[in-house]
Amino acid sequence: MTKKDQLTNLNEVMEGDTSLPLRKGATRLVFGVGATDADILCIGEGPGYWEDQKGEPFVGNAGKLLDQLLVSIGLDRTKVYITNIVHHRPPGNRDPLPEEISAYGAYLDKIIAILEPKVILTLGRYSMAKFLPNARISSVHGKSFGVTWQGRAITVVPMYHPAAALRNGEVMYQEKQDFLKLPEILKNSTRIESDSKEKDVEQMTLV
Ligand code: URA
Repeated sequence: MTKKDQLTNLNEVMEGDTSLPLRKGATRLVFGVGATDADILCIGEGPGYWEDQKGEPFVGNAGKLLDQLLVSIGLDRTKVYITNIVHHRPPGNRDPLPEEISAYGAYLDKIIAILEPKVILTLGRYSMAKFLPNARISSVHGKSFGVTWQGRAITVVPMYHPAAALRNGEVMYQEKQDFLKLPEILKNSTRIESDSKEKDVEQMTLV
């Protein structure tokens, strides 16, 4: 089965999963969008108002900035894959709770396993914490970390959330600089299968 077919199946399973905790308050599931053979997987926090309306991640103001940041390195949303840590809009855009992150996380892990990205860009604290639970975004943003995830070697690059950049000029400056480092990080990252089934941060590479 192609990656596209696997993702389509997973999307259907998720749509039918009545146990997902944020489902009731949301208009629709926001699964993900982009290229199924993408090298880069962007993981945000959760759908907001516009994403909930349209069923696509990052289509509001933060999404417009994400589009510009991707263009700054010769990419666009059709060349990466974009999803979120939770796939239904939290009521009133509140932060997702730990039990919600873990319920949707089982599906997010399947998305990662299907896509096998070279690089995961975490956008904001919540997706960073999935891979780098003890990191502080102000210290690690824009740096690359080698992580073994579900037995696969993946480079994780924590980024500030684009919404944070829209609120703060200094964060915006850092965000733009951090994105400019990505082409070099991508060049040095490969898709490597490893035997380990353990989730475990193996090494830290500062770029
Ligand atoms: N913010 C997110 O984290 N994700 C979206 O999809 C939109 C805004």
